[in-house]
Amino acid sequence: MSSPSAAVPHPDRKPAGKLATREPAAAAAPPPAAVAAQAAAQRISVRISMAEGQAETSCVVCLQPCSSKACSCSYMHKDCAEQYAKTFSAAKCKVCGVGFEPSRLNKRKIDDEDRRGEELARKRARERAATERATNLEWARLVAPSAAHILLRHYRHAEEESGPGAAEVRPLCFDSVVLSLVHSGEQYLDDLSERLCDTQPQSTVEAAVSRLRSIADDLMTEGVDASCGALFMRLFNQVLERRLGPP
Ligand SMILES: [Zn+2]
Ligand SMILES: [Zn+2]
Repeated sequence: MSSPSAAVPHPDRKPAGKLATREPAAAAAPPPAAVAAQAAAQRISVRISMAEGQAETSCVVCLQPCSSKACSCSYMHKDCAEQYAKTFSAAKCKVCGVGFEPSRLNKRKIDDEDRRGEELARKRARERAATERATNLEWARLVAPSAAHILLRHYRHAEEESGPGAAEVRPLCFDSVVLSLVHSGEQYLDDLSERLCDTQPQSTVEAAVSRLRSIADDLMTEGVDASCGALFMRLFNQVLERRLGPP
């Protein structure tokens, strides 16, 4: 059984299929930017008319809308009044001299707390990104020299089997070093781990290899921050130069 309201078309609603052909383009819905601009203009004019009519009062401390009167002359929020009292060492208005009781005033609006929450979230995200960058640099410092030795050894081995080719190691970029370490077979990673184990505890080596894998994944998607790649290649090339001589 179908509901009766579904069977009766809304009087204002035209059949969707015919709308496009009947209505001229100019009568179509305005673009979202125009709607947003109109809405903003509307909000501003409402605000102006409220200010003119004194319909909206604002806190003398934070200048945001506030409906709790603190003294004879001013409106304040609870937390703003507390801050005011702390700043002037007295819960008393500097203008009219009337004392106020912060606990009897209204709290600041929730959206202000939301904004603080967003700022905190952004700050945490920035801190996480900074930590990640620092960890990547530390990783580059640890892994790059060993990576150069490993790749050089493999190239040398290939050279013995199929003629000169060591020069091809030089024009490598960060992406190709990382991807060839990760995707050329487990031998490269085993050799790298073994080499790192000479100087590092097992847990550090495991973390370094797992970061190498995740950096290889990141290269295929969002990329890795440039400072990590730059440091890695500087240290990588230093080893090559020592081992191969100047290009
Ligand atoms: Zn306030
Ligand atoms: Zn006052």
